[in-house]
Amino acid sequence: MSRLLLRLLFPPRCVLCRRSVTEGELVCAVCADETETRYALRKKITVTGCKAAAAPLQYKGNVRRALLQCKHGQQNGLGKWGSAQLIDCLTPLMPEWKPDCVTYIPTTLSHWWKRGFYLPKIFAGKVAAYYTLPCIPTLRRKSFAKSQLQMHSPEARQENARRTYFPRKGIDLTGKRVLLIDDVLTSGSTARAGAAILHEMGAAEVFFVSLAKA
Ligand SMILES: [Zn+2]
Repeated sequence: MSRLLLRLLFPPRCVLCRRSVTEGELVCAVCADETETRYALRKKITVTGCKAAAAPLQYKGNVRRALLQCKHGQQNGLGKWGSAQLIDCLTPLMPEWKPDCVTYIPTTLSHWWKRGFYLPKIFAGKVAAYYTLPCIPTLRRKSFAKSQLQMHSPEARQENARRTYFPRKGIDLTGKRVLLIDDVLTSGSTARAGAAILHEMGAAEVFFVSLAKA
């Protein structure tokens, strides 16, 4: 199909609010401005078990909506835009963090079947490629695990996260500095469980970054 026909059928839309944008733009002028003013997370964050953690954005407004409602066909734009936000956030931290590899919080098989893509994996791949680091799938997630959203206390979330993730076989992270990526950091119990397993797999240090922080 010609490029022009494709553009007529699927005009480029803002990855955050779905308003139409000009060719080559990922977000509209309004969302670009709001990202700077309304969504930027200007504070340090910590995750237990991680040497350091960071997130460029707050999980609210159109950022939240876009992450929740991202549909098949929209993941490329959101993946590109989100990775660019992550890279902006990471670049000043890289001289200190010095990761040897990149990994991500995994999802369930049923999520793959339903959606056909998974943003943390897309982010991890693009971030790893940008810094020419290997992107290694290190963790697995139990398919029957309960969603963290069903857990109503911090203790229940922590316990659920601890039972949900486990290491992939045959991966040795001995002495490695690992950068762990997720899309959203909520209570931190998922990141904490992921970091604990990476340490069990031999990681010397774990650094965490998510696109947004709730
Ligand atoms: Zn927009």
